[in-house]
Amino acid sequence: MGGAKLHAHHVAELVRRGDLSAYEHVCQILEKIERIEDKVRAYITLIPDIALEKAKEVDRKVEKGKRLGKLAGVVLAIKDVISTKGIPTTCGSLMLQDYIPPYDATAVERAVAEDAIIIGKTNMDEFAMGSTTENSAFGPTFNPWDLSRVPGGSSGGSAAALAAGEADISLGSDTGGSVRCPASFCGVVGLKPTYGLVSRYGLIAYANSLEQIGPLTLCVRDCALLMEVVSGHDPRDSTSIPTEPKKYQDVLEKGVEGLRIGVPEEMIGEGVDPLVAKEVWRAVDTLSELGAVCEETSLPSLEYSLAAYYVIAMSEASSNLARYDGVRYGFRAPDEGMDWSSAYSKTRRLGFGPEVRRRILLGTYALSAGYFDKYYLKAMKVRTLIKRDFDEAFKRFDVLASPTMPILPPKIGEKVADPLSMYMCDIDTVPANLAGIPSISVPCGLVDGLPVGFQAMAPPLGEELLLRVGYALESQVRLYERIPVV
Ligand code: GLN
Repeated sequence: MGGAKLHAHHVAELVRRGDLSAYEHVCQILEKIERIEDKVRAYITLIPDIALEKAKEVDRKVEKGKRLGKLAGVVLAIKDVISTKGIPTTCGSLMLQDYIPPYDATAVERAVAEDAIIIGKTNMDEFAMGSTTENSAFGPTFNPWDLSRVPGGSSGGSAAALAAGEADISLGSDTGGSVRCPASFCGVVGLKPTYGLVSRYGLIAYANSLEQIGPLTLCVRDCALLMEVVSGHDPRDSTSIPTEPKKYQDVLEKGVEGLRIGVPEEMIGEGVDPLVAKEVWRAVDTLSELGAVCEETSLPSLEYSLAAYYVIAMSEASSNLARYDGVRYGFRAPDEGMDWSSAYSKTRRLGFGPEVRRRILLGTYALSAGYFDKYYLKAMKVRTLIKRDFDEAFKRFDVLASPTMPILPPKIGEKVADPLSMYMCDIDTVPANLAGIPSISVPCGLVDGLPVGFQAMAPPLGEELLLRVGYALESQVRLYERIPVV
């Protein structure tokens, strides 16, 4: 399979009409994987046999004239932090190397019910902690646009698989940018939904109060399509919003005429590569030409968002990851003759990588008696201020816009040695998670052949606005036509 790729909505339409055999489509993607996967390394686990079986089933349904789902024959890659029944789910960690979930995440269940075909589980930073996919126990993933660079993280495998033509759509998770960052670095579309819009049932927790499962796709229409499938109330997630999925595809062509778009100066000034900023301003100009009213604005509390995010995320992580004790499930280090406490420490020392251990230590410190008020409580207060700043801004603007990532995709190895500079990359993505609002990343241009992502944020449940803005921009930029064929 070479040249331009079929988008997921095309695949589904062709399969439903009987013009494309799901089996042949899966075979083509498997051939592509065979050819390039050792260069890209997007996957931790591949399940070709199961995928081919499912494809036959879809083709049989077509032959018999049975009703077909919205994702008929669409090849789906799933981040390895999302539970898949009977398929290993490692979280990119030695700790869960042999873990096979006994159930599917709701998002997976819904995609499969619409006849999507799971092809495999994608590489990621261990327990979703990172922005480059270099913190994986299974080695890094490489960016298909330039194999010497990172694909972004933590859902790097999900984005790289798409850009390399190794899947039609994918699911990631976004705690502080992990869908949008790799979408930006790999030149694809990524959406972090409103907190509570997509069920977290079956998503292995990093920081519950911040994260959402979100789609990564080759184009905005595919993103709308996948949201129609995975969103909506789930009684198995107590934070799930009681709402029905919307028909997101129906609003795409509404345009941006009259939409008020604000660009927070805190998100596009200091620390942003001027070449990235230039592409984003160009996108803002394009939206203005299409009738949007764009203007610079300020959300002063954003200055503190990175600090607040890392205190909250690490605190929640330290508590969530306490369950990996080597006793109930997961990795257990040899511990013959050891007392309980030393055995427990040894398992955790060997089972977790350095970034995860760092965060558990920092998070535990932030929550400990005497420091709780100084760090965790303070961070929660800042979170409230940030939420208020967004509430105020959305009285004046329909949408806020910024770069997704302040920099171009770094070289492999450039960031991983310096955790602080890795954290700094998240400056523009974490505010949406702190505020619980939806945010999309859409490719808006190229610098030296590397993609730049444009981020748009909207009030809670404003996904339709984001998809409209994304669709309008994409129709002008059409970067998906230039995705490299590795
Ligand atoms: N890079 C951020 C972190 O390391 C975000 C990760 C995520 O969204 N899962 O925490």
